[in-house]
Amino acid sequence: MKIAVCPGSFDPVTFGHLDIITRACDLFDRVYVAVLNNPAKKALFTPDERVEMLAHATEHLDNVICEKFEGLVVEYARHRGAIAMVRGLRAVTDFEFELKMASMNHHLDKDIETVFMMTSNEYSFLSSSAVKEVASLGGDVSAWVPGPVAEALVRKYSMAGQRG
Ligand code: ADP
Repeated sequence: MKIAVCPGSFDPVTFGHLDIITRACDLFDRVYVAVLNNPAKKALFTPDERVEMLAHATEHLDNVICEKFEGLVVEYARHRGAIAMVRGLRAVTDFEFELKMASMNHHLDKDIETVFMMTSNEYSFLSSSAVKEVASLGGDVSAWVPGPVAEALVRKYSMAGQRG
């Protein structure tokens, strides 16, 4: 069985992520979508909220498992029996960061390959941070994220607004 891991922050999941996950599911028998629980990185959604949104958005894919993880992604991948980590590439700006990450991960575990997929054209500008910025200003993000995620963003920012 060929197993892959799609690691990331997914804060929150966008249609850009879902495009990569769906394409990974066509190539691998099983795909673990792994939400990095990094307390040092300030996130809008908790790891559990992010996993729940991902699980809901991928429930039509029968070879996906969504879960959170802590620590080194190569170690997580090894525990899951993965042969590859799948990452999405948008602009050239992604390339430098991803090359660095892939080289470090290759050094840590030579048996786990990093596989890159080019973003689909319509999502090349899409990122979780851009979605959060628009949503925080009251803009409509429903073209970029699944319905429940758009609703969760409205709830988060209206709660933040109430707190001042
Ligand atoms: P990180 O926080 O580690 O940058 P993200 O959670 O934002 O990661 O994304 C996880 C993965 O999804 C990364 O490989 C990222 O490049 C990819 N990704 C995010 N948005 C898009 C998009 N619009 N198109 C293609 N890949 C994307």
